[in-house]
Amino acid sequence: MAKYIPDSRNHRWVILATGRAKKPKEMRKKYRLTKENGITISPDCPFCIGNEDKTPGEVMRIKDKRFGWKVRVFRNKYPITDIHEVIIHHPDHLREVDKMTEDDFVDLFSVYQKRISALREEGIPIVFRNKGERSGSSIPHPHSQIILLPKQINLEALGLEPIKNKISENDSFVMYCPDFSQYPYEVWIAHKDSEAVETGSPILQKIDFVDFSSKELALLGHALKSSVAVLKKVIGWDFPYNYYIAPKPPFYLRIIPRIIIRGGFELGTGLSTNIVDPADAAEELRKHIR
Ligand SMILES: [Zn+2]
Repeated sequence: MAKYIPDSRNHRWVILATGRAKKPKEMRKKYRLTKENGITISPDCPFCIGNEDKTPGEVMRIKDKRFGWKVRVFRNKYPITDIHEVIIHHPDHLREVDKMTEDDFVDLFSVYQKRISALREEGIPIVFRNKGERSGSSIPHPHSQIILLPKQINLEALGLEPIKNKISENDSFVMYCPDFSQYPYEVWIAHKDSEAVETGSPILQKIDFVDFSSKELALLGHALKSSVAVLKKVIGWDFPYNYYIAPKPPFYLRIIPRIIIRGGFELGTGLSTNIVDPADAAEELRKHIR
């Protein structure tokens, strides 16, 4: 059982999850890799096909004739809260977000939608992805996680920030670097419908990830893929990052490159120091986006 501990003023919460201490640290382990049916798999990876028995309690899968499954969800072996699931993006051990196809994104995001819808009655589901060791990831196979929080816990999650410093857009989504960026080169993806209305408008609350059509999910995938690809180009290496979907509507997807470390000042005050002006970041990203 996860234990929730408030601070002395009941503003912030800590989750005591001591079982997490046993979490494996596999990011530096050398995995043997083999090619099978055009994808790369590893016999050493607990998230690869053939090793399904190494993960506990399957929640759901999208079936696939060639590989058995395309997306697979199971309970996290080292949960942070009482409901904590792992979502494997694809059977391919090396298929990162910037290599995923349109169909891969529709499959993955439709699984996000199903799990959010199923869990929403019971609390606040948070979907996120950690990429790279410095982002908090412990197994390299591309995966996301979903954690359910009790409704009574105060979250310090951000609302949708106004759409400024645009990088690019497609038929449904806009990519931008909000003025309120706490980290260098943060990229947010918002639905275009949210552009037309004022911050705080009740219309915004209706822009909900679970309502997006397959066509919108494909366009969202495209926006995420090109954001990660352009960030890779501008930052200059295979950088660690987190992304998450806004815990409550209005929808946004926030990508946070983890290229700086928070210091004592930031930890002591809760303030953020951003060393790259979001307007400059957007300009630089705009130059390289495809
Ligand atoms: Zn794997």
